[in-house]
Amino acid sequence: MSCLFCKIVSGEIPAARVYEDADAIAFSDINPQAPVHILVVPKRHIVSLDEAKAEDNALLGRMLSVVAKIAAEKQLASGYRTVINTGDEGGQTVEHLHFHLLGGRAMHWPPG
Ligand code: 5GP
Ligand code: ZN
Repeated sequence: MSCLFCKIVSGEIPAARVYEDADAIAFSDINPQAPVHILVVPKRHIVSLDEAKAEDNALLGRMLSVVAKIAAEKQLASGYRTVINTGDEGGQTVEHLHFHLLGGRAMHWPPG
């Protein structure tokens, strides 16, 4: 498996992990776009939101709960942003589903 995030899940490539459970891990983004920039990633290889199936709905919901839990731990009480980039025009560069958690600064809208 040549997938970067699968290698982070397996530990083959190191990452600054902040959370792990049976189905997901979270780690700091290597190129942070905000003071807090964490990626929440399913352990199972799912290419993108487009590839997620109805059977994955519970997993996706738990991942959102993980985002909120980490946001609370990081004391982002004044707000944060959760982003899922999908496909080329969506800005997805790693083809393993991930939720970005961005916080610690005011976010702008619309996003670039
Ligand atoms: P995407 O552009 O696919 O939505 O997000 C991929 C994210 O993965 C980017 O924000 C990028 O900085 C991050 N990233 C790419 N390679 C690595 C890596 O080796 N380690 C970590 N921790 N993050 C990475
Ligand atoms: Zn993968």
